[in-house]
Amino acid sequence: MAAQDTVDHKYVYDFAEGNKDLKDLLGGKGANLAEMTNLGLPVPPGFTITTEACKAYLATGREPDGLAGQIQAHLESLEREMGRRLGDPGDPLLVSVRSGAKFSMPGMMETVLNVGLNDRSVVGLSAQAGGNDRFAWDSYRRLIQMFGKTVCDVPGEEFEQALEDAKRAKGTKNDLDLDADDLRGLVDAYKRIFAKHTGREFPQEPREQLDLAIRAVFESWNAERAVVYRRQERIPADLGTAVNVVTMVFGNLGPDSGTGVAFTRDPASGAQGIYGDYLANAQGEDVVAGIRNTVPLQELERIDKKSYDELLGYMARLEGHYKDLCDIEFTIERGKLWMLQTRVGKRTAAAAFVIAAQLVDEGLIDLDEALHRVNGAQLAQLMFPRFQLDHEFQPVAKGVGASPGAASGKVVFTSARAVELAAEGEAVILVRRETNPDDLNGMIAARGILTSRGGKTSHAAVVARGMGKTCVAGADELDVDVPAKRFTVGGHTVGEGDVVSIDGTTGKVYLGEVPVTPSEVVQYFEGTLDPERTDDALVEAVHRIMTHADGRRRLAVRTNADTGADAARARRFGAQGIGLCRTEHMFLGDRRELVERLILARTDDEREAALAALLPLQRDDFVEIFREMDGLPVTVRLIDPPLHEFLPPLEQLAVNVAVAQERGEDVAREEALLAAVRRMHEENPMLGLRGVRLGLVIPGLFAMQVRAITEAAVRITRDGGSACPEIMVPLVGAVQELETVRAEAEKIIEEVVGDSGVEVLIGTMIEVPRAALTAGQIAEAAQFFSFGTNDLTQMGWGFSRDDVEAAFFWRYLELGIFGISPFESIDREGVGRLVRIAAEEGRAARPELKLGVCGEHGGDPDSVHFFHEVGLDYVSCSPFRVPVARLEAGRAAIETTGSDSR
Ligand code: PEP
Ligand code: MG
Repeated sequence: MAAQDTVDHKYVYDFAEGNKDLKDLLGGKGANLAEMTNLGLPVPPGFTITTEACKAYLATGREPDGLAGQIQAHLESLEREMGRRLGDPGDPLLVSVRSGAKFSMPGMMETVLNVGLNDRSVVGLSAQAGGNDRFAWDSYRRLIQMFGKTVCDVPGEEFEQALEDAKRAKGTKNDLDLDADDLRGLVDAYKRIFAKHTGREFPQEPREQLDLAIRAVFESWNAERAVVYRRQERIPADLGTAVNVVTMVFGNLGPDSGTGVAFTRDPASGAQGIYGDYLANAQGEDVVAGIRNTVPLQELERIDKKSYDELLGYMARLEGHYKDLCDIEFTIERGKLWMLQTRVGKRTAAAAFVIAAQLVDEGLIDLDEALHRVNGAQLAQLMFPRFQLDHEFQPVAKGVGASPGAASGKVVFTSARAVELAAEGEAVILVRRETNPDDLNGMIAARGILTSRGGKTSHAAVVARGMGKTCVAGADELDVDVPAKRFTVGGHTVGEGDVVSIDGTTGKVYLGEVPVTPSEVVQYFEGTLDPERTDDALVEAVHRIMTHADGRRRLAVRTNADTGADAARARRFGAQGIGLCRTEHMFLGDRRELVERLILARTDDEREAALAALLPLQRDDFVEIFREMDGLPVTVRLIDPPLHEFLPPLEQLAVNVAVAQERGEDVAREEALLAAVRRMHEENPMLGLRGVRLGLVIPGLFAMQVRAITEAAVRITRDGGSACPEIMVPLVGAVQELETVRAEAEKIIEEVVGDSGVEVLIGTMIEVPRAALTAGQIAEAAQFFSFGTNDLTQMGWGFSRDDVEAAFFWRYLELGIFGISPFESIDREGVGRLVRIAAEEGRAARPELKLGVCGEHGGDPDSVHFFHEVGLDYVSCSPFRVPVARLEAGRAAIETTGSDSR
C-alpha cells in the first residue's frame, strides 16, 4: 500500500458508522455491534479499529500513519457521549479492548478489560460504584493480571499464585471472601510481579494502556494457537483482526447485576424456545471460567423481570432482523440491560436443517434460502450412526473429531495386533500417539483410530478420512505407552483388549461399549421412515429441503454401483442411473479360475473357450443390474485393471512352487502361473497394460463383455422391461484407440440387438490428460464422456493414488501446498482445467455429447459445484453419497442463478 493511501485511510469506525455487512473490515463482532447500535439496542458505546489497520501493523511492525489521531478523535467523542474521560481520577471512563476477526475464533485472541484504571482512578471507580471499594480494587487487580499476561507476556501462573496466597492468608478458598484491603494488597503484589517480569512499573497513563492493549490484540492474530486454529478451520491467514474499544459495563456490582448468554433457538436440536444461562453478580469471564454455576436463563424472569422481558424483546427483534438463530451475550449493570455481542449462532447439523425449515414456515426466508443455509457436509454427518448416550456414559477425553462416525472396539496399540484381532473377527480401535505410514494395515483393519497427538491434518486424520474410517486425533489427555500396551486417562488405565468407544464427530472418547443408534435420516432415505407420518422434525426438514434441491438442480445424480444390491440401495437414495459399473469385480471369487485360463491360454481355442465360459456369468450380472435400474441409464465400463491383478502375488506363487516341488507334487500349473506373473510384471502397473490397452491386446476380451451387456439388455427388453446400456471404454488417450474398439463393438451390438429396439451408446472415460487435451477429436467417436477424476488427478499431478495420501499428504497439508487432498476435492486450477477444456472442446465437436463424472469427486460437495459450473450433465458417486450430491447440486443451481444468496 502506498504511503499516501494510508494517510487518508479511515481506520476507525464509530459503532453508529458500521453495519453487519462490513465483517471484512470490522470483523464479526464489530459489524454486529454496529448493527445492534443502529437498530437502537442498548450497546455500550464504542468504536472499532479495522482489520486494515491490523494488516498494516502486522506488515510493518508499527501502527499505520493516521491511526493514533483517529483513535484520539473517536475516544474524545466517546468521552463526550459518556460525559467521562478515560481514566479520569474522579469519574473514570473505562473501556474493554476486544479482538474480533471476520470468522469467529473463540478464545484464540486477546481481550483486555478495565483499561483506564490506575492508582488514582481506582478511587473514582469506587465512588461511581456507590463507595464499593472492594469492587474497584478487584477490577484493578483484574486489569493488571490481564494486561500483564496478554500485553506483556507475564506468566499467568504467578498472578494465580499470588491470588492463592492471598486466599490462604485469609483462610478461605473463595475469591469473594477477599475484602477491599486484601485486594489492595493483591494489587501491590501484582504490580511487583509485573515490574519483575517487564522491568518497568505498571503503566499508569490510560492512553498508553489503551495503545498497548490495541497493539497486543493486533499481534495476537499471529499467536501460535491462532495460527494453528486457522489452519485447522481453513480460515485464511491474511484477514487480520479488528479491535473493538467498548465502554465497560459491570455485571459484578451486586445482586441486581449479572451476565449471561442467550440463543434464540436451541443450537443443538433447533427447537424453538429460550435457551441460555445467567450468572448473577459476575463478569463474562467468570461464566467461561466456570467459577460458579450458572442458572437457566428462564430464572432471570424471577430475578429481574424487567430486564428479562426487555431481553426477550431484543432476541425476537434480532432473530427477525437477521432471519436466523442468533446468539447473544449480555450484561445487566444494576438493573440496566446491555447487549455486548450478537451473531448468527453456530449450530449442529441437525439444528441447521430444522431451523432452516422453521424459518420458512415462519415466513422469514424462502426455500432457496433454506437450501443455501444447509450443506452436504452436514447432511453426511446426519447419515452416520450415532452413539446412544445416556447419563451412564461420560467422556473420559476429548480430542479433535477428525473423521466422523461412531466406533467401539477393543483397544490395540500396534498395527500388527490390529490386523491379527480383526482377522479373528474382533472390532478393534487402534490407539497410537500418532500414526505413520507403517500403521496403514492396522488402520485398514481397525473400526476406528484414536491418537493422543495431532489435529485435523495429521497423518491419522487424513488417512482415516480417505478411508471413511472413524478417527479421533489429538486426545491429549491420553497418556499412551505403546511398549507397555496401555494408556492412562483421568485415573483410568486402559490395556490391550479393553473396550473403548470413540465419536469421530465430537472427538469424545468413552470407556466401554456405547450402544449405537442408526441414523433416522438414512432410514428416511431407505424409505423405512415416512416423512409425512413422523413427528421427527429433522426428517421432515430434510425431506422438504431435499425435495426443493431436487426441483432446483440441473445436474442429474447417478451412482457408482457394481452389484444389484448396491444399485437398489442407490436408487432408494435417489440415484437416476448408474454412472459407473466397474466390471472387474465380476472377475473375482470363483471366476478367478476362468481368468487364469484366459491368461494361460496358449491357443486361440483355449482363450475363446475361457471367454465363452465367462460370457453367461457376465450376462447374468448385467441382467440383475439392468433389472434394478429398470429404464434408467447404466454405464458399464469395460474391464480396466491389469490382468495380473487377478493372479496370486509373485512371492506367494514362488513359495507355492517351491513347497510343492519339495513334496514331489505336480507343479505344472503353478509353474505356468508363476511364469505368467513374471512375464506380466510391470514396474508401473497403473501406467501399464490396463484399460483400453487390454482390449486392444487380448483378442475377444472386450467383445465378450460387449456381447454380455447387449444380450442382457435385449433379454430385459424381451421380458417387458427397459434397459439403457452405455458402454464405456477406460483409459483412452487417443481417438484411434476408441475407434478401434468401437468398430468391433458396433458389429456385435448390431448383430445382438436385432429388432429388439434396444439402443446401446458407446462412449469413453476421460481420465488420461492427453484425452482431455484432444477431446475434440475423441468426441467424434464418443457419444458420451465420463470424467475419471481419480486417474486424471493421479496422472495430472503425477501422484500415485494408492500411495501418496498415506505417504506424505499430511506434510503437504501442513505446508499449505493444498488445503485438502486433490483426490478428495477437485483441484479446480489444474485437474479442473483439464475437465473444463475437455467439456468445451468435446461439446464443440459434438453438441449432444453427454458429460458426466464418475471419479470420487462426484460425491464431494465442493467438486459438485465445480461440475455444475463446467456444465456437466450428471455426477456419479457411491450410493451413500447420492443424497449429498443431490443437495449440493441444488445448492449449486441456486447459487449460480444468484437467487437470494446472502
Ligand atoms: C477414475 O479414474 O476416476 C475412475 C472412476 O476409475 P477408477 O477409479 O476405477 O480407476
Ligand atoms: Mg480410472
